[in-house]
Amino acid sequence: MQSISADKIFDGYQFLEAHLAIGINESGTIISIHHKNEHTVHYDGMLIPGMINCHCHLELSHLKNELPKKTGLVDFIKNIVSKRNHFSSTIIQEKIIEAEKEMIQNGIVAVGDISNGLDTLAIKNKQHVFYQTFVECFGLDENYAKTITEKAKSIKNEFEKHSNATVVLHAPYSVSEKLIEEIVNESAQKIVTIHNQETASENELFEIGTGAMKEFFTAAFPITPEWNATNKTSLQNYFSHFKSFKNSILVHNTFTSKEDIDFAKSIDTNTFWCLCPNANLYIENTLPNAALLYNENCQVVFGTDSLASNHTLNIFEEMKIIQQHFPQIPFEKLLQSMTSVGAKALGIDQQFGSFEVGKKPGIVLINHANQINRIK
Ligand SMILES: [Zn+2]
Repeated sequence: MQSISADKIFDGYQFLEAHLAIGINESGTIISIHHKNEHTVHYDGMLIPGMINCHCHLELSHLKNELPKKTGLVDFIKNIVSKRNHFSSTIIQEKIIEAEKEMIQNGIVAVGDISNGLDTLAIKNKQHVFYQTFVECFGLDENYAKTITEKAKSIKNEFEKHSNATVVLHAPYSVSEKLIEEIVNESAQKIVTIHNQETASENELFEIGTGAMKEFFTAAFPITPEWNATNKTSLQNYFSHFKSFKNSILVHNTFTSKEDIDFAKSIDTNTFWCLCPNANLYIENTLPNAALLYNENCQVVFGTDSLASNHTLNIFEEMKIIQQHFPQIPFEKLLQSMTSVGAKALGIDQQFGSFEVGKKPGIVLINHANQINRIK
């Protein structure tokens, strides 16, 4: 057994008392939490469990620095659609491998990763980190709901041979009612995710039935829903469908209100609120009300989103942005979001997210210069 300690140890829930050390075996499994002794190796800085990235799109890694910033979501989507297929499969694979390496260097041990296709299958099968793949469906024409779901299921089956995968909805504005029904059946009692309230025009689309998002979709697609005014926000329109899911990870939440949070609490699913602040600054130049989410005792987690809308895949950097803009949020709460709450969201808290005997969470050192090093 190896005994390690540091100036501070955060165990996934709280800071350990100063006299304590962690005992680990060769493979990094936690054997004990014990008093420091003469064999204890001391590290300068803070030890934390491996970090959990609850939202990424590894398959978009080749779009780093390719898309203009602060255009708003609608133009961002247009740019992604026009650019994503203009790269060779060799480049796409190279960039995926580089992006994974970056995540590992940054102390990330598990990833909730959105996939539209099988570009990330090869790297995921190597199991360098834990992946929960979310195979994403979108489509506004009800007539194709079944076909879209079947295609997503066949992609999911490939990922599932070596890691976890579920079929999920892309966003409230990009799916038909029929497609929602299909996914509710397909992924009942499973872990799902959805991009939620990322832009003001998403709420406007459902509440008032107007706005930039409606204009874009009605111009771009031959068949779209009517989107009549409902006087309800995006979340309050769709989220009651989510009661059949085990965990629901809502991503972005940039325009989520106290009323939306109250509504989500009334729905019988284990709701997690995933913040990707770097991507929000990149795309919309705005941030979610993180203080509100923490005040309301929401289960907050972090994601990097993709390199299409971020300069780095680094959960610690995402946390620091929230910390800078919302200094009132207790540091321990932010650290929990990066570790134990993230692990719970992805359903992997039996192994990841905390220093507890029997777990193998990965051990990360953050030194006084905020440099990240993986110890185990
Ligand atoms: Zn995303």
